[in-house]
Amino acid sequence: MPTAMLDETNTCRIFSGGKWLDSQATRFGEVTNSSTGEVIARVPFCTAGEVDRVVQTSHEAFAEWSETPAVQRARIMFNYLENLKAAEDDMARIMSREHGKTFAESKASVQRGMEMVEFACGLPSLLMGDSIENLAHGVDCETHRHPLGVCVGITPFNFPAMVPMWMFPIALVCGNTFVLKPSEKVPFSAMREIELLHDAGLPEGVISVVHGDKECVDALLTHPLVQAVSFVGSTPVAKYIYETGTAHGKRVQAAGGAKNHILVMPDAILDQSVNAVVGSAFGCAGERCMAGPLVLPVGDVADEVVERVTQAAAKLKTGPTDRESNATMGPLITQEHKDLVIGYIEKGQAEGAKLTLDGRKVSVPEAPGGYYLGPTVFDRVTPEMAIAREEIFGPVLSVVRIKSLEEGIRMTQESEYGNGAVIYTQNGRAAREFQRRAGAGMIGINVGVPAPMAWFSFTGWCRSFFGDLHIQAKEGMMFYTQQKMTMSRWFKGTDGALGTWGF
Ligand code: NAD
Repeated sequence: MPTAMLDETNTCRIFSGGKWLDSQATRFGEVTNSSTGEVIARVPFCTAGEVDRVVQTSHEAFAEWSETPAVQRARIMFNYLENLKAAEDDMARIMSREHGKTFAESKASVQRGMEMVEFACGLPSLLMGDSIENLAHGVDCETHRHPLGVCVGITPFNFPAMVPMWMFPIALVCGNTFVLKPSEKVPFSAMREIELLHDAGLPEGVISVVHGDKECVDALLTHPLVQAVSFVGSTPVAKYIYETGTAHGKRVQAAGGAKNHILVMPDAILDQSVNAVVGSAFGCAGERCMAGPLVLPVGDVADEVVERVTQAAAKLKTGPTDRESNATMGPLITQEHKDLVIGYIEKGQAEGAKLTLDGRKVSVPEAPGGYYLGPTVFDRVTPEMAIAREEIFGPVLSVVRIKSLEEGIRMTQESEYGNGAVIYTQNGRAAREFQRRAGAGMIGINVGVPAPMAWFSFTGWCRSFFGDLHIQAKEGMMFYTQQKMTMSRWFKGTDGALGTWGF
């Protein structure tokens, strides 16, 4: 682990003014290796005073950074991309240790993050405004996009490197400075990516990192110099961030939790559908906001779907991700979260769903302290059960047998969440109907996890998103800039110096 990020008591440092600094915090959390349960570091819970100093530094850096030409700002992202490419494996190892994703999953998420940087490299083209000459007689109109100032990112544990990269590359190329508050459960991936960004040539003060819990977040949300807040996390916190941030005059985009549906129509190619369902439900141990924890087989196909999904899920190998291993599914993030997921399995049984695969039986003798839970499948789930309605965020798949496409569409519309919805079918008309009417902002047609790549926004609906402009892509650029319109008219000179030149 790079030592500059840690002080001599093994506590994470904050990053401000281009340096790693010891935190002045008096409260701390623990960062664990999810595969073993071993404590690997302490994370400080920054106080409001400390946050204030970091925001002040960020604000001071804004003056020069916002005047730096956009092309020059983008060039730093080209350097950053090179640094990330060189450090990809290192980043993936850091993430697998603190988070518990497999190496392949960690690396894939770093690569998705790098696509955000690629997008940011091309941002000057998007920052171009509009113009029209002679909109009225002798009057020209044009628009320009201006940065906002200090922007803040507050991020969840489940994609420790990628989610911060949904935010700061765009914010910075737009000319803002940025303060990141990564999840206190997985600070190292974020700290490492910020170090690589600093090494790419970013001026001091332009990017900062603070750590903490609610106290730190509240200090950011209410700070008078903070202009905009991007948040990704659970729905109750997203709602709180949106309400508190906007009440303090900030722009806020806040992405929340999810419960995504996968419809399998009777004509779907079953090999592909089953692979997609298993990958979607159990990839990253189910800790993904675009996971598909609800599968809705339509009609006669249900028995076969349940049987094949159960068999395929049983073949997944749960094991440690902090070392070379044959694990295809890693541990959950904490013991507390594992207990919560087990609570849902108990609730599912109590509500009468039929357990066809019980992940609680999994044991990992080579790493007994890790937070492991194997893939779990429930059949005969009904829409009103808690396991069909609430976000579990673990490796638990619920099968709700339905009779028609219409019934499936209705379930997506009635869900309190609206992140993703997927259909597997070979029928274009069914796919089109689903695409148009499903109650979610991101639709997959024969695509199990329709998480948009960097060039499209993350368009969650309902209680999966609070705000107007979504995260990533063009909407991200719009979120991090304000528009200025200029109307100009030049009068014919009669008595000015230039008048004699014949204008
Ligand atoms: P979380 O809401 O517990 O934490 C997210 C961030 O908010 C962290 O940085 C945390 O320190 C901070 N936080 C937590 N409680 C707070 C409080 N009371 N006041 C102020 N700040 C607080 O989420 P998590 O458990 O880290 O992440 C998992 C959640 O994130 C899931 O619900 C998942 O669906 C969601 N998520 C959503 C998306 C999306 O795009 N919609 C993407 C990834 C994750």
